[in-house]
Amino acid sequence: MSGAPVRRTPLPGVLEPAGRTIGAEERAAVLRVLDSAVLCSTFGGEARALEDEMAALYGRPAMACSSGTAALHLAMAAVRFEPGDEVITTPISDFGTVAPVLAQNGVPVFADVDPVTGNLDPVAVEAAVTARTRAIVVVHLFGAPADVVGLRAVADRHGLVLIEDCAQAWLGTTASGELLGTFGDIACFSLQQYKHITAGDGGLAVTADAELESRMRLFMDKGWDRSGGRKHLVLGLNYRMTELVAAVARAQLGKVAGVVKRRQEAAGELVDALRDLGVGLPSLAGHAFWLFPLIVAGGNRRWADRLTAEGVPASAGYLERLLYANPVFAGAPVYGTSRYPLDRAYPVGLCPNAEELIDRTLVVLPWNEAYTTTDVDDIARAIRKVHADG
Ligand SMILES: *Cc1c(COP(=O)(O)O)cnc(C)c1O
Repeated sequence: MSGAPVRRTPLPGVLEPAGRTIGAEERAAVLRVLDSAVLCSTFGGEARALEDEMAALYGRPAMACSSGTAALHLAMAAVRFEPGDEVITTPISDFGTVAPVLAQNGVPVFADVDPVTGNLDPVAVEAAVTARTRAIVVVHLFGAPADVVGLRAVADRHGLVLIEDCAQAWLGTTASGELLGTFGDIACFSLQQYKHITAGDGGLAVTADAELESRMRLFMDKGWDRSGGRKHLVLGLNYRMTELVAAVARAQLGKVAGVVKRRQEAAGELVDALRDLGVGLPSLAGHAFWLFPLIVAGGNRRWADRLTAEGVPASAGYLERLLYANPVFAGAPVYGTSRYPLDRAYPVGLCPNAEELIDRTLVVLPWNEAYTTTDVDDIARAIRKVHADG
């Protein structure tokens, strides 16, 4: 490594005020709820108002719940598959994408991804369909649009439910400008601390299907429809969002378009600055830029270490390991001392493109709406320096 680090002061990040859009609106929202003394959304108006505002943004009914994982669990419960049925998904995602499959006694089946974007490959998904497949969960990784048109066609050919995990893809679109989250039967969003907008934890789901919506609402609230009496119609948990969270989420939702726009502009600047370099850069079209991915030759761990040493924090592969390489899939008990519902091994080599990305070629940079042109310039110079050092 040559000389002083390119960047001497920390870039704004999601664990500090400078890297989050939390301000007067969120402060007022919290106080409004506290002053009302109604903190539970069953009795207040904030979560219902958040649902209306989300519905207006996505053009279909919305449900507020306690996390992105909870939203995906609502979706899995609403699919109403049988124990032992299969759900096809990607091995590159947060554990929240697959935990709900296991929680509903389903078997996650991992299909391989596109070697450049890391998004599910519809051909690999179709090849993984069996007589037990009931649903596909597609993740728009880092905010890049997955091939939802191709996946919708696969789902329709085989009678499967398509769920979009939009936790990283707030207001992302396809290359032709259609909103991600409107291709799936259900789409799920997260308000966790690291996402585009946050209320600490929180989730939202949207669906245009009234039957799915009603099953999700029941599952979120103890199977209790609240229209009369205290009757529990089905198994349900308590995944309600609180009023404090909902009030903050409403203020944040009002800022999400600006957050995404700023992230896209900054990403465009970085792509322009690096276009001639010969590292793999993300396609800008429709990308919501939760993170900024690079595809490198010569070892992603070395790249991540070198960039971090230059003052530009980077991580190799986004995940330490693919979802299926975690102990829970590799032999640990799932329920009690049993592996049920898992009925198969998930060997190394299952998804070669995904393994290549995580182990060798993918480097991800945290991305933030607060990045200035100077910040992006420093990031570009650090990448050029690491590239030049070979
Ligand atoms: C964050 C995330 C989740 C889980 O959301 P939580 O709110 O943390 O439960 C699920 N899927 C993806 C792709 C995520 O990035």
